[in-house]
Amino acid sequence: MFRQLSLIFGSKSKAQEIVLLLQDAKEVVRQGFFETELHRVEQFCQKNNLYLVKSKFKVLFADEGIYSNKGIRIPEDDPRPGMYFVYVSKEEQKVWLASYHELMQNHRDLGLVLGYPQCCVDFFCSRFNPQDVDLELSSKNPYTNLSRRGEDLVILSHFPCDPECKESIRMGEKYLQAVYAFDKDRARELLTQLRAT
Ligand SMILES: [Zn+2]
Repeated sequence: MFRQLSLIFGSKSKAQEIVLLLQDAKEVVRQGFFETELHRVEQFCQKNNLYLVKSKFKVLFADEGIYSNKGIRIPEDDPRPGMYFVYVSKEEQKVWLASYHELMQNHRDLGLVLGYPQCCVDFFCSRFNPQDVDLELSSKNPYTNLSRRGEDLVILSHFPCDPECKESIRMGEKYLQAVYAFDKDRARELLTQLRAT
């Protein structure tokens, strides 16, 4: 089942976010998809009674991808292969709110509607600089370790304000539990790999 989800959503990390949504560990998630991926994602959401809103613009991402909020916005009809921002939730209001805050480039309210801890939202807003978008802090704690997100091994989807940020760790524990309830192997893989780095 987890494998199937990964095929639909394009990666294990993205599938994991959908698991968190289905298990009520998250209320809304934000992901980036290329046009060619959208159809199967939309189909899945429809079948599973999830609301989905897609941005009207596309984004050309720099290395940091969706974490950084950095990316050049381009119109839908631009031939370059940008990604659409997609918001998914069981609640219709949440997907529109997230999409609206993103459109307005309101990082603060976007972060809050996505459920990120207040301290980490403050951290992001005070540090956010389009020239330097990597706010990753090196972490020995598996829950706040983002260093292997490029290999599809990550638990959180925000930059923790501190490797020992209590709220982030609490969230990470909750997320790992929800993943474990759905797919034990994936949860084990996350914990062992993120502990090792
Ligand atoms: Zn924090």
